[in-house]
Amino acid sequence: MPVREGPPEGRGALFQLLRDGKPRTRAELSAETGLARSTIAERIESLLAIGLLRHAEKAGSTGGRPPSMFAFNPGARVVLAADIGATHVKLAVADLSGAIIEEQDHPLDIASGPEIVLDYVATAGLELLTKTGRSAKELAGIGVGLPGPVEHASGRPVNPPIMPGWNEFDVRAYLVARLGTEVALVDNDVNLMALGEYRTHWPDKPNMMFVKVATGIGCGLISDGRLHRGSRGAAGDMGHVQVPRGVDVPCRCGNIGCLEAVASGGAIAAQLTELGTKAVGSKDVVELARGGSVPALRMLRQAGRDIGEVLATAVSLFNPSVIVVGGALSQAGEHLIAGVREVVYRRSLPLATEELRIVQSRGGHQAGVLGAAAMVIDHALSPEQLDALVS
Ligand SMILES: [Zn+2]
Repeated sequence: MPVREGPPEGRGALFQLLRDGKPRTRAELSAETGLARSTIAERIESLLAIGLLRHAEKAGSTGGRPPSMFAFNPGARVVLAADIGATHVKLAVADLSGAIIEEQDHPLDIASGPEIVLDYVATAGLELLTKTGRSAKELAGIGVGLPGPVEHASGRPVNPPIMPGWNEFDVRAYLVARLGTEVALVDNDVNLMALGEYRTHWPDKPNMMFVKVATGIGCGLISDGRLHRGSRGAAGDMGHVQVPRGVDVPCRCGNIGCLEAVASGGAIAAQLTELGTKAVGSKDVVELARGGSVPALRMLRQAGRDIGEVLATAVSLFNPSVIVVGGALSQAGEHLIAGVREVVYRRSLPLATEELRIVQSRGGHQAGVLGAAAMVIDHALSPEQLDALVS
C-alpha cells in the first residue's frame, strides 16, 4: 500500500498543528492544512465546543476588526502522573501542555504489593486533584511509572526483580476501576524519565538516551522522537551488561561481572564500607561525595568509566546526540559524568561523537512524572482519540 501523503483530514489532525500553542486564524489553518475554509470553520467549532481550543487575541494588531484567532487550551483537562519508585511515590497533576500544577512525595514500599500501592496512588491522586480545584470528571487519564520491566501494551509488569506480587498484575484495569477514568497507561520508570527529559528539555534532540544511575542502572531510549521499548519492554536494561572491571563480582541477577554489580549506588556503598567508610546506598554515597570524601569521588569517577564502557557500545549502535545522566547518584556532582565522558569520547568513532553531548539531567526528580504526563497527553490528544471524542 502506498504511503498516504497530503493534508491532515480529521479534527484530530487539524488540532495537532495547534498543539504548539501558537494562535492561528482560519486562513492560516486553511493554508497549513490545505483544507477548505468551511471545513476548517466546522472543525474549529467542534474543538471549541469540547474546550480544547480557545479564542485568542492577535498581539499588536491595530485598526479594523482583527480576524478571529484560535489556540490550544491546555487547561481543558488535567492528567495524573505517578512515579512509583522502590521506596517512594511521587504524584503530580499536570495540564495538557504537560506543565505540573501540583505535586507531592510520599514514602511507600513497592514490596507492600500492588493493591496497597495502587490504592494509595488512586486515593492520594484524587486528593491532589481536588487541591488543584479540578474534579475527576476533568481527568484525561493517569500515567504510571514502575521500577521494573513493564509490557507497555498490556500495562503489566514482567518478572520485576524488586516488586514481589506485581508480576503480570493488571495495573491498568485496577486504576481504571479505582479512578473511573478510561485511560491508564503504564511504563517502566526509566522510559518515562527519558520521555519527560526529552519533551521538557531536549525537544529538538529526537535521538537521545537517558541513563538512570541509582540502586539499579537502566536506560531509556528516544529514537526518532519516540520511546523505543523493544519487543518485551526490556530495551535499555543496561545494568546487566558485563563490564571488564566486574570479572569476578557476583550480581543479584545470578550472573557475574554486571555493570550494576560494580557501578550502582549499592555497589559503591559496599566498596566504601569495605575501605572503612560506612555507607548503605546512593544517598550515603552522594552525601560523602558532597562532603569531599576522596574515596567516594574516586569511586564515582570509576563508576562513570564503567557506565561509559557500556554506553560507548550503545553510542556506536544507536548514534544519539544527547546522553542524559540522571538518578540519585548523578546528584553527587560532575565526577560520575566526567568518568562517562572520558570513556565514551575515547572509545567511540569521531562521527558518532561529533555532536554528542553528555549532560546531567535537567528534569531531576520531576523527570518521571513529566514523562508519565506526556505519555497520557500523547494518547489523549492523538488524532484517533480526538476524532472519536468530537464526532
Ligand atoms: Zn546482573
